[in-house]
Amino acid sequence: MWMRHANPLSAANVDCILRTIQSSLARLGFGPYSHAASLWVFFAGCGVAELSISFLICTPLERFWPLTNWPKRNSIAADVAYAFFVRIVLFPLIAYFEFHWLRQTLDGFLHARAITPLSLTELIPKLASWPAIAFIANFAILDLADYWRHRLSHRIGWWYGIHSLHHAEEQLTFWSDDRSHVLEDAITYVWLIAVGLAIGVPSMQFPFLILCFRFLGSISHANTRVGYGWLGEHIFVSPQFHRTHHALRAAGRRSCNFGTALSLWDFSFRTARFRDHTVETGDAGAEPALVNGSWGEQQLAGFRRMARLARRGKKTPAPRTT
Ligand SMILES: [Zn+2]
Ligand SMILES: [Zn+2]
Repeated sequence: MWMRHANPLSAANVDCILRTIQSSLARLGFGPYSHAASLWVFFAGCGVAELSISFLICTPLERFWPLTNWPKRNSIAADVAYAFFVRIVLFPLIAYFEFHWLRQTLDGFLHARAITPLSLTELIPKLASWPAIAFIANFAILDLADYWRHRLSHRIGWWYGIHSLHHAEEQLTFWSDDRSHVLEDAITYVWLIAVGLAIGVPSMQFPFLILCFRFLGSISHANTRVGYGWLGEHIFVSPQFHRTHHALRAAGRRSCNFGTALSLWDFSFRTARFRDHTVETGDAGAEPALVNGSWGEQQLAGFRRMARLARRGKKTPAPRTT
């Protein structure tokens, strides 16, 4: 029942994995909660597996082909905490439990009124026999939606206050991808869930689309001079393309390169800046707690900056490059 939107092949495999986890949990005494717990363990496991693959790819890229070497390395404890918080807590909660519950509720509501739920495969029936193409199409639409969310977060003052937590990082590495304020995470996922529901993303596909974003996001934050080549950089967000977005002069409004996974959108909406040689990153207007504080200190500093910028009015601050 919980997988009626899923591809039958992958659903069978996932069902088998879930049954194995469920029986192991039941043996450990989690019988009454074993269904929900097995789903949680499965999605958290997928999240940690994705983080491990990102680690195995990005660590050699940063070690053998670094873009820059810092004389003194800041602690990455807070960034590592963000990465695990996202994979173990946020990802299973949002990507499956929230999305799946909302998908079922919405479908139930529409079916009760004899309304066919809107979906990409409903609009283009041929996509039903090409699940990989449907997956890529859903991925591209969600990425386009995220491009506009990100672009707006640089235009609206209070919103940039919390987004600046991400921009405050002065030593950008692949761990920096998940460095984000919890309020911004909430806005991001509500937005992605709403778009996912509107275009009929199957509930079992949504978590894996999110994992693809996280994987490409980790690579695009890596401190490496390895690029994707001319064509690759005009389709995907490369490490140099995203580093340009993190440049001191790009903090706040008048920024560029807003894409999450695909640079295609920046290219299409004329916000792309290729051939840039940014090395230094950060936000000169960020207080020290936002840059190098602990997880909790960064969150509080994000709220403080959000309140300051909200009082100042609608506009985000102009970039300062001290
Ligand atoms: Zn940004
Ligand atoms: Zn970033």
